[in-house]
Amino acid sequence: MKIKTFFLVMLSAALFSCTNVQQSKPVYKPSDNALLMATLYNYYAAEYQALCYQAYNVAKERVSQLRAKFPKKKNMAVVVDIDETVLNNSPYQALTIEKNSHFPNCWDAWCQQAAAKPVPGAVSFLRYADSLGFQVFYVTNRSLKLKAATIKNLRKFNFPQVTDGHIYMKTTTGNKEPRRQAISKKYDIVLLAGDNLGDLYEATGKYPQRNQKVKSLRNDFGVKYIVLPNPMYGTWPAGLKLYSKNAPVDSLLKVMTKSFGNACR
Ligand SMILES: [Mg+2]
Repeated sequence: MKIKTFFLVMLSAALFSCTNVQQSKPVYKPSDNALLMATLYNYYAAEYQALCYQAYNVAKERVSQLRAKFPKKKNMAVVVDIDETVLNNSPYQALTIEKNSHFPNCWDAWCQQAAAKPVPGAVSFLRYADSLGFQVFYVTNRSLKLKAATIKNLRKFNFPQVTDGHIYMKTTTGNKEPRRQAISKKYDIVLLAGDNLGDLYEATGKYPQRNQKVKSLRNDFGVKYIVLPNPMYGTWPAGLKLYSKNAPVDSLLKVMTKSFGNACR
């Protein structure tokens, strides 16, 4: 009898707590909760690490194929972005969450430390491309004043061809196309790697135009374009207007949950 009463009490407690969970309204805080999850993913998730290795394994395969196809071609170039492509800045993102701050606060100080660790697979891939005679160019939107610290950070981890002429910092525009064109005057850019579409080609527009463009270029991914994961920041949240004061989170979710109808009420 006592046992039966105990289970009844436990069952009531469970039902009560379930009701409470169902009644509590979810709170959407895209500017902090989402960044927290994304930052933890980019630092701790083995899946993040695996995605990076996957990207750079494909990149290795591609340069190997290209060298086999053009054994004597000397002007083939690989262009890589820096942040979240070859260097991981998730500790900086963590700091902004901890301080309830945001980019660009403390960004320069973080870069000056030259403490960012390499993205998994990046050093190995670039050293391999270097060994096969490819030119390596680093095209970044870090500002010019951070060039020395960036060189220090890259050299610390033995990235190849880290010289003044192989690093293109941001000067007047964040659009990387003019810098790619400058490189193309002398070299044939055969492979590009980045975490943001603008690292690969002149990407314009917002959702869904950006996505349509990617679909039209689908045969180039893993061939000419290598993409690294970065859920923390980039052009994609701006493309969804997530950086605006009144982020349309509810309406964005509604699009995804439309098919449920009344099925889950
Ligand atoms: Mg980047």
